[in-house]
Amino acid sequence: MRVGPLLLLVTAGCLTGTAEPQVVCDGKVVAEALALTSDADGVLEIPIAVDDNDDAFMVTTARRLGTLSIDGVLDPDASVRLDWEDWIQARDSLTNAFYATTEVSVLNWPVRVEDGPLSPGDWTVLASTLDDEGYPEGEVDADVTVLRRSCLQGRPSLIVTIAYADDLDGDREVSGAVEAAAERWAEIYAAHGIDLDLRYVSANIDGSIAEPLIGDEEYTSIYAEIGEGVVVVIGEDVAGFADLYGEAGGIPGPYVASSHSGVAVSWLIHAGTDAAFSDDEIEVLAETMGHEVGHYLGLFHPVESSWNGWDALGDTKRCSATGACEAALADNLMFPYPVCGANSCTAQTALSDDQVGVLQLNVGLR
Ligand SMILES: [Zn+2]
Repeated sequence: MRVGPLLLLVTAGCLTGTAEPQVVCDGKVVAEALALTSDADGVLEIPIAVDDNDDAFMVTTARRLGTLSIDGVLDPDASVRLDWEDWIQARDSLTNAFYATTEVSVLNWPVRVEDGPLSPGDWTVLASTLDDEGYPEGEVDADVTVLRRSCLQGRPSLIVTIAYADDLDGDREVSGAVEAAAERWAEIYAAHGIDLDLRYVSANIDGSIAEPLIGDEEYTSIYAEIGEGVVVVIGEDVAGFADLYGEAGGIPGPYVASSHSGVAVSWLIHAGTDAAFSDDEIEVLAETMGHEVGHYLGLFHPVESSWNGWDALGDTKRCSATGACEAALADNLMFPYPVCGANSCTAQTALSDDQVGVLQLNVGLR
């Protein structure tokens, strides 16, 4: 491994010159950009210097050639805290960092409360640079961003910027419904102890917005301008799909400008064929925003709609058939689809303690 120039982007919340470590919980994030090169076997060792204040870190890797997967986490005693081989065949999903299907790979650590707490010292995240067939490729350059968050004091909050595609902010029906839905989403998160700091901007892009999970340069440029928190892009549809309510750029998503740095939401699918919003449609729009940003913050569906894959959390109910899963989990914010009868949908606003734990460990919460 060769370590390139180390550029300090933001420094905040660090104590210097104190003889004894003093823990300051201010939720500040320190960002470091590293230019690294993998060894002959394609192994990339990413150093993370965790200090006394830190309670979570995020590693975002971007390839310059081929693809790149995150493979594991070593603590300061060189004990393996996360190994991709324990999870790659599992039916339980912990993080998408292992999957080298996109040009960025994002790991937030710890993922769950039970994976922590962080101990101060030199941690290592292991990654692999891969060729186009997925085999290790040595001596490959990679851009790595490390975010370290100081522990939180009090209620955490998340900066959310809602970006309207195609001058939709000038459409009073759409912008009024989106703002009402965002306020309702803020209530849903607030009930779980997380505050939203909502902002609104206009994005000069086409109303048929791209899939952030596939990746698109539109998300790179929008995020580069906004530069913090989670960006939710409101479009008429997502990639032309007639049944896609919304999509997140990753589980979890990145906090640096990349083609995956956003959440896409279709307003038209929520409004329905009359293109006007009822109160129930605004509620579903609010829950879609909360659901997709839940993915961006690291939450999986408690059960996938194939009924044979689950999240890695101990307190979300297990089920394996439509009836049983709707009975057990239809009210969960992360249920894979809205559950609706003839006249109304089941409110999907519940989160388990373990789900809230994942959200609170995401470095985007300050
Ligand atoms: Zn989902």
